[in-house]
Amino acid sequence: MYRTHNCGELRMDNVGQTITLSGWLQASRDFGGMTFIDLRDRYGITQLVFNMEDDEALCNQARKLGREYVLKISGLVRERTNKNPNRPTGNIEIEVKSLEVLNAAKTPPFTIEEDTDGGEDLRMKYRYLDLRRKKVQDNIIFRSELAIETRKYLANKDFIEVETPVLIKSTPEGARDFVVPSRMNTGEFYALPQSPQTFKQILMVAGFDKYFQIVKCFRDEDLRADRQPEFTQIDCEMSFVTQEDILNTFEGLTKHLFKTTIGVDLADFPRISYDEAMEKYGSDKPDLRFDMAFTELNDVAQQKGFSVFDNAELVVGICATAQANAYSNKDIKALTEWMQQPQIGAKGLVYVKVNPDGTFKSSVGKFFSDDDLKVWANKMNAKPGDLLLILSGETEKTRKQLNNLRLEMGRRMGLMKEGDFKPLWVLDFPLLEWDEESNRFHAMHHPFTSPKKEDVDRMMAGDHETMKSLRADAYDLVINGSEIGGGSIRIHDRALQSRNFDLLGFSKEEAADQFGFLLGAFEYGAPPHGGIAFGFDRLCAVLKGQSSIRDFIAFPKNNQGRDMMIDAPATISAEQLEELALLLQKKEVER
Ligand code: ASP
Repeated sequence: MYRTHNCGELRMDNVGQTITLSGWLQASRDFGGMTFIDLRDRYGITQLVFNMEDDEALCNQARKLGREYVLKISGLVRERTNKNPNRPTGNIEIEVKSLEVLNAAKTPPFTIEEDTDGGEDLRMKYRYLDLRRKKVQDNIIFRSELAIETRKYLANKDFIEVETPVLIKSTPEGARDFVVPSRMNTGEFYALPQSPQTFKQILMVAGFDKYFQIVKCFRDEDLRADRQPEFTQIDCEMSFVTQEDILNTFEGLTKHLFKTTIGVDLADFPRISYDEAMEKYGSDKPDLRFDMAFTELNDVAQQKGFSVFDNAELVVGICATAQANAYSNKDIKALTEWMQQPQIGAKGLVYVKVNPDGTFKSSVGKFFSDDDLKVWANKMNAKPGDLLLILSGETEKTRKQLNNLRLEMGRRMGLMKEGDFKPLWVLDFPLLEWDEESNRFHAMHHPFTSPKKEDVDRMMAGDHETMKSLRADAYDLVINGSEIGGGSIRIHDRALQSRNFDLLGFSKEEAADQFGFLLGAFEYGAPPHGGIAFGFDRLCAVLKGQSSIRDFIAFPKNNQGRDMMIDAPATISAEQLEELALLLQKKEVER
């Protein structure tokens, strides 16, 4: 028998019992007459004691053991004189009577403790060692709990879990596909799914009514800290539902997950339209842990002789509560420079300080009287001591820039509090997005998203300009400024779907070639349906108040998309290339 207990469960109640434990040697302390070893497994750490006076040979054996040796010990549980209140097992220790080395270990290349000295790449290469660290292991265990609770909730609501294929044909969801060459069909390729989108819609046509899957998706995009080439979604689809049904179901799921995994009760989620989100926060994923909403000032700041404002499409500002004193001229200059960095690209930044005596100090004091500035301050609900920060320019760009500033001020002012969760639904996204560069429409969500009922006629018959104003039954769930999920009511009518493909620039042939199966299915009685997908990795990170999704993936890829442990991607042999007819194609290209 390897163990009677695990390394995290022995307590005072067990004192006097003879037990057996197995685990890894976390640390040892040799005091000559006595040697202490911390034995670790997934469940915790238990202190072992070896005493020279009791058994010299055994104690000498224990002194020689290195970190990460795998041990099996038997001994007596006894009360500790020197208790450790930080450890659940801290009141007891084991007086070891026998010891077996189950496996020796090389000295690990970094320390396996809460905080490690190992660099990112080294830890990724030895991922199995990094995964032994409690912090990392806890994240993976948390992920498992979240998946189990998701399944419980959805099963309870009559959802059926269906696996959809991984080798498919490309689905256009905006990113590049990973492709897999087919050996049996020379010169042809599968694509890995960016999401199971078309399959889940087909499952609705097939009558499954409520589908879900915790599923891997693949997108060949440039990577960032919160992106991975393969990631996981909680993917869902429902039939005979309105947007309201979907929002309620998945608001319920989110509340259930917060309650069961971190014990947080979420209040009902506020809902705002895409337009309102852009107007008030300059972002379709606003962080609502703090307000600092935008105030538009065109009507009070233009036509007063300040040409920068007069020539701007939008003059808009935020009010930073009680920050007037915190910002010297030097600080304002630094903040302005921060706004001018190329990633943000503001031309300048106007400030107004609301003095306690009712006067104002402003970078545009030459152009505006105190009476003018008072009108701004009133419009922005500013109090004495507040700092107004104002941008102007082209509407869309200026809003984006002010969104950056709002988030930066929120950060600086400590308003993004840990443990504070502010979910919201963003609704009524535009259906289509006009792209100046490629001179064509893109689907804002994806090509299967339905316009709002009241917009269907305009979509079928309207002109080019009309298309820009169409709204979709599309929604995003946002928590603390992170997009956690998104979905839509789908088109279930063949003519409307064809029209959408037309608008998106697919020729009839291309549409038939890529989506013939879906258009075909729509001719055999497709029910009205809609769905949503949550980014599972990101949900884990947000619930745990962390920014990187990588820490919640057992075997993540690095920023170059490499798996450092198995060293992938890698070249393949000439035989494999030949078998896949890729060698031939390469030669042809070279010729
Ligand atoms: N397939 C969509 C996505 O991956 C989600 C959905 O519309 O259900 O974003």
